[in-house]
Amino acid sequence: MCAMVWITMSDWMIDTLGVRKEYGTQVALAGLDLQVRRGEIIGLLGPNGAGKSTLVKVLTTLIAPTAGVAKVAGFDVVRSPMEVRKRIGYVPENGTVFEALTGDEFLKMVIDLKGLDSKDAYAQIEELAETFEIAPALKDQLNKYSKGMRRKALIVAAFVGNPDVLILDEPADGLDPHACARFKRMLRDLAAQGTTIVLCSHDLDLVEKTCDQICVLAGGVLVAVGTISNVVREAREQTLEDAFLRLTENNSRTHELA
Ligand code: ATP
Repeated sequence: MCAMVWITMSDWMIDTLGVRKEYGTQVALAGLDLQVRRGEIIGLLGPNGAGKSTLVKVLTTLIAPTAGVAKVAGFDVVRSPMEVRKRIGYVPENGTVFEALTGDEFLKMVIDLKGLDSKDAYAQIEELAETFEIAPALKDQLNKYSKGMRRKALIVAAFVGNPDVLILDEPADGLDPHACARFKRMLRDLAAQGTTIVLCSHDLDLVEKTCDQICVLAGGVLVAVGTISNVVREAREQTLEDAFLRLTENNSRTHELA
């Protein structure tokens, strides 16, 4: 007997249809269809200028698509941006933190902005700050933090409140190997608990060690999507690096994978 699998709407935590973004005459995204299930980690790869950060900004409601529909956690990013924001955690690519605030003040501000129960959320922040070894620095102003420490503060801010969807743009940039190893484990644990994670990165090792699926963008077009092993096989290569190079050697060329 044939088993039938129903995909309900709520299974797609990221669901985009024909998402296009133009900056003037520049087409950054040329009609993107992408679906990601609950509890899945998807790596978003592509050469410089491929459209990754643009997609991330659409999903986080920072910019509106020129055309198409994007839903995050079941909510349309244009029609219901506040509902989307309540359900996501975001580490921006060039995340600036409020320099004059202490780590504590910054993270308390994040708790307020997210509308979280302050006691529970602060307990979680203390735990995350211990894990990422920034607890002793929470009383210091952020302008005294190193690059990696700032990144850790942004990761703690994104994780607090256990959002349904984490959207991470080069999150491990500046993390030392210890912190990076902890970060990878944490991503896997969060996904196992049902968090959906979009991981935008040029770090292929990070992607290989954490992601269930990858999506490769080039010239604003999706050139491959699937498990890493399928994408590598379909590209007729042996490694993710070689598959990436082949798939993106001509930014404007589209590749169809079965
Ligand atoms: P990188 O790996 O270098 O971060 P990316 O894949 O994130 O690149 P995007 O930042 O999404 O790429 O940029 C996609 C295209 O859109 C590029 O051609 C870029 O020049 C253009 N672009 C991005 N932001 C703007 C903007 N605010 N105004 C005009 N063009 C933009």
